[in-house]
Amino acid sequence: MNATDRLSELFMRFPGIGPKQAKRFVYFLLREHSHYKEQLIKALEELKFTGKQCERCFRFFGDKSNGNAKLLCDICESESRDSSLLLIVEKELDMDAIEKTGSYNGLYFILGGLVPPLTEKPSEIIRIRELTARIHDSLKAETLSEIIFALPVTDYGDTTTEYIEKTIKQIVGIDKVTLSHLARGLSSGLELEYVDRATFTSALERRS
Ligand SMILES: [Zn+2]
Repeated sequence: MNATDRLSELFMRFPGIGPKQAKRFVYFLLREHSHYKEQLIKALEELKFTGKQCERCFRFFGDKSNGNAKLLCDICESESRDSSLLLIVEKELDMDAIEKTGSYNGLYFILGGLVPPLTEKPSEIIRIRELTARIHDSLKAETLSEIIFALPVTDYGDTTTEYIEKTIKQIVGIDKVTLSHLARGLSSGLELEYVDRATFTSALERRS
């Protein structure tokens, strides 16, 4: 297999990338200046060693501090974030989109998936053990006061929310923490990944 075919196959493993798009990427790279390609190669090289997962929110991040292993991402590490708020999202892209709006200053937890309706073992699909451990720790430190659900308005999103609420109530006890949900009024399919500042701010302010 030649280099362009090999590269095109590698691109096809990216989420949502089919054979045509993969080829388009390869042709793009063939046309690009060598300076760009060197930057790309260097960035990929760094990622090889430094791609880490935050042990608190489970976000993947690049860690340039080679050697002394950093365990928390910038957000979890920051002291200026409001640790009384914990916002639950499905995936990293949702968290990135919310961060871009600049209207939320609390902390996050990434579930890593959604629970399909009628699933027998939801605990194998989302990070529920990690979430309950996180809530326990935050309550012990007396910092957490509210958990905000920011999951998709779909059957999967609703099933996931119900399952987590049930688990939290059993394990944590509901009197210790408020559970709230982003307002759904603005659009039935509030797609966090593409949310704009105004929509998110309003959904956050009107959470209930
Ligand atoms: Zn983190």
